[in-house]
Amino acid sequence: MIVDRVYDYINSTGKEVDKEILEEARERFGYTVKRQFMEDDNWNREGKIYASQMGKKCPRQLSYKYHGVEYESEMSPRTKVKFFLGDLSELGALALGKLAGLDLGLSQSKLNIEVEGFKTHGYIDGLLYDGDEPYIVEAKSTGRYSFQSFEKKGFKDRPHYMTQINLYMRNLGINKGIFLVVNTDTGHLGERIVQYNQKYVDMAKNNVNKVLNSSVDDLPDRVYTLDDFKWMPRNKCYEIDKFSCQYCDYNNECWGGITVDTVSGKPKHRLYIDDYEDFADDVQKQVAADRI
Ligand code: SF4
Repeated sequence: MIVDRVYDYINSTGKEVDKEILEEARERFGYTVKRQFMEDDNWNREGKIYASQMGKKCPRQLSYKYHGVEYESEMSPRTKVKFFLGDLSELGALALGKLAGLDLGLSQSKLNIEVEGFKTHGYIDGLLYDGDEPYIVEAKSTGRYSFQSFEKKGFKDRPHYMTQINLYMRNLGINKGIFLVVNTDTGHLGERIVQYNQKYVDMAKNNVNKVLNSSVDDLPDRVYTLDDFKWMPRNKCYEIDKFSCQYCDYNNECWGGITVDTVSGKPKHRLYIDDYEDFADDVQKQVAADRI
């Protein structure tokens, strides 16, 4: 629906400069630069749960944010730049859609959203009409492997993406959405239509309830236990090999004593038994029961 039109546009000749689209793209570029480089990571998270996060696998992670727990950012400059490039890819895909004649917004529209009485907001990338049928458009960028997975099964393994688009659909009373995805390794574009699915809105409700009923001293359970991680007897450590925990801002706060080793150029998050005293109290108990 979008990708074929974009490819046709790119292959067409006789293009003209569209000043209105250029101006919109400039505005969103400025927003992206501000968001990625001009604001601190810890900014203003207390008391907030955004629609884009409500479907996260781990409500404990949401609770850390909601209660304003500070963390030491390990985000390297490289990672920041990577996120920035992802944002630019999404902006580029939307601009191409618009240049191809589709009525998409580039300067995201704010949408007020309420889940279980909790008021928050999100930003929709676009609203597209196919005849009389409206679609919520959500642009995303991924690397090669995630893109292959998206092509096969959509974003079933990214529940927070599914929750986000379903919340937007529910809010606007629209039954269909479309993900427009950029493969940042190859430049391919992909798209997939999704039907409204109450299951994802219920996930958001469930997470919001857990967060609102938690406190810093009584957080929701971790999404994984130590038993879910690989025990490496030779190194005497657990390897925290789950994506959610590896890229969680609060992983050290949550588990304690995490060491990040670089193995074959990749970061490996590990809990070494030698750091036992630094583990979180309940993690210490489980380690003592299993390994000591
Ligand atoms: S480290 Fe893992 S279990 Fe702990 S809050 Fe983060 S995602 Fe949840």
